[in-house]
Amino acid sequence: MSTIDLPLLVLGHDADPRSERGVDCPGALPAASDPDLVARARAAKEALGERVFVLGHHYQRDEVIAFADVTGDSFKLARDAAGRPEAEFIVFCGVHFMAESADILTGPEQKVILPDLAAGCSMADMARAGQVEDAWDALVDAGVADSVVPVTYMNSSADIKAFCGRHGGAVCTSSNAQVALEWAFDQTPDAKVLFLPDQHLGRNTAVLQLGLSLEDCVVWDPHRPHGGLTREELEKARVILWRGHCSVHGRFTPEVVDELRAKIPGINILVHPECRHDVVTRADLVGSTEFIIKTIEAAPPGSSWAIGTELNLVQRLANAHPDKNIVFLDRTVCYCSTMNRIDLPHFVWAMESLVAGQVVNQIQVDPETERWAKVALQRMLDLPARTAAKD
Ligand code: SF4
Repeated sequence: MSTIDLPLLVLGHDADPRSERGVDCPGALPAASDPDLVARARAAKEALGERVFVLGHHYQRDEVIAFADVTGDSFKLARDAAGRPEAEFIVFCGVHFMAESADILTGPEQKVILPDLAAGCSMADMARAGQVEDAWDALVDAGVADSVVPVTYMNSSADIKAFCGRHGGAVCTSSNAQVALEWAFDQTPDAKVLFLPDQHLGRNTAVLQLGLSLEDCVVWDPHRPHGGLTREELEKARVILWRGHCSVHGRFTPEVVDELRAKIPGINILVHPECRHDVVTRADLVGSTEFIIKTIEAAPPGSSWAIGTELNLVQRLANAHPDKNIVFLDRTVCYCSTMNRIDLPHFVWAMESLVAGQVVNQIQVDPETERWAKVALQRMLDLPARTAAKD
């Protein structure tokens, strides 16, 4: 078994470029109080012209989104990056695993830059390569590995995607998790799925979309011997859920859903499938960030919505749709702390460094990891297309 791994180092200390961990900024950041930051960002972008392509994840701050050439979820952004082979620099305003995916899907000459290396993802950190290899060894010892197909959510490190590629598995997104699980169950008779790293997306998909029962799902805890599971439990399980979760979406509770329904008559509860099962089962609609955006765009004026996803996106939707009553599905304010690491000073520093001919914070996946991660990503791209109202 691996030694106990803390999921995150204190931000700004130590360096571990192969993980989703926080590191110091290696340069001199402009002061956040600098009144010229916006003008400096604009000037740097103009100076770089077509050489740079700026991607902004939906959960980024407004000050950064203002400079994005495209916005989207992690998979859309990686595909957008792959569609711009002429761009020498891809500045990824998102988190580390997203920049890795962009590096995997772009050409060898293109350089992917993450403005702050401390922008990791606590969920991705919850499944580390050594832990997953240990789990696989335990599945081999339990005699079940031959029937296990690993499927990892896009929100995982390149190492984990490569693990899935090597072991006959695939990557999935929150939009295609159902098709990915159906595909996995077709791979071998008596197939089981090892779902990484988000237990909630895995459980919600298996139970609510594939019709499995909660008892068909077991949770593998990487911090307990044998995942905390017996051989019999592993033999019986259809889905082995990795014990990981999103620290932002995991905060939403059924109590707040009930409270809002009581307070605001007719309110619609709209949540992301990374939320807990007891929240998702109380919601009216469930879907990816793209689905959430489209749902609000299509909603009638005067309708009321409580949205369970990252707060930057909820606020942006509320500002863009003043004719609708939009509230956050939590009592307290909570942004994704790592998404918020990318701020205007880091963005300006990265862009001005590029203008000066210095490539900073480049994210590079090693060739062997890239080869196998691409196999898993390609299996996802080969999945049959599916249109579903909830995705
Ligand atoms: S919102 Fe959750 S999954 Fe997304 S980057 Fe933050 S911690 Fe990771």
